[in-house]
Amino acid sequence: MSLEEIKARIARAETEAGRPKGAVNLIAVSKVQPNNRVEEVLKAGHRIFGENRVQEAVGKWPMFRERYDGIELHIIGPLQTNKARQAMDLAQAIHSVDRPKLAETLARLAQERGACPDLFIQVNTGEEPQKAGIAPEDVDGFVANCRTFDLPIKGLMCIPPVKEEPSMHFALLAKMAARNGLAGLSMGMSGDFEKAISFGATHVRVGSAIFGARDYA
Ligand SMILES: *Cc1c(COP(=O)(O)O)cnc(C)c1O
Repeated sequence: MSLEEIKARIARAETEAGRPKGAVNLIAVSKVQPNNRVEEVLKAGHRIFGENRVQEAVGKWPMFRERYDGIELHIIGPLQTNKARQAMDLAQAIHSVDRPKLAETLARLAQERGACPDLFIQVNTGEEPQKAGIAPEDVDGFVANCRTFDLPIKGLMCIPPVKEEPSMHFALLAKMAARNGLAGLSMGMSGDFEKAISFGATHVRVGSAIFGARDYA
């Protein structure tokens, strides 16, 4: 478990980027990891975690919440509308608002529940056909629509194409967030979080560098 090392690297990247200490939130991405590895990170005092499937999150986090206070859960993966209510009940943030239908559903549920997690709009910065997310040219309009629904949009999120150098994608996301008056930037994973911090990331999503490789077998 190298939580301390990752935290130290984040602190160094903040300093190098001339950003205040603590400007970056570390989301420990615990998907697929065995509970004993997750528990080590909880025992080390970390409280912000990310899951990409609601089903899996429901299977572990209510149990951990009975034993540890102050857990903050972020849903970072594709969200089906029929899981939206569960996601809202479970999570403090959803990073994968990626289509109008989902925004409408979240808005309806937010009205009904009188509360809504923090939301990030996922942008398909690489315009990859197989990848979820709002196309870059549609972002401004989508943000405006979400605001008319009173959704608490905190920022933008991206997952750059695997085979590309991510800098251009981080820069593009930062530019789109700035021109829409959004402070949150969810970008950077195990392989590139320091670079994302240099481009202004406020939330980095780090899984394998903390927990070790995921075993999907
Ligand atoms: C799995 C996942 C991560 C973490 O990936 P690592 O490379 O293990 O750090 C980050 N973001 C999303 C959306 C993910 O699904």
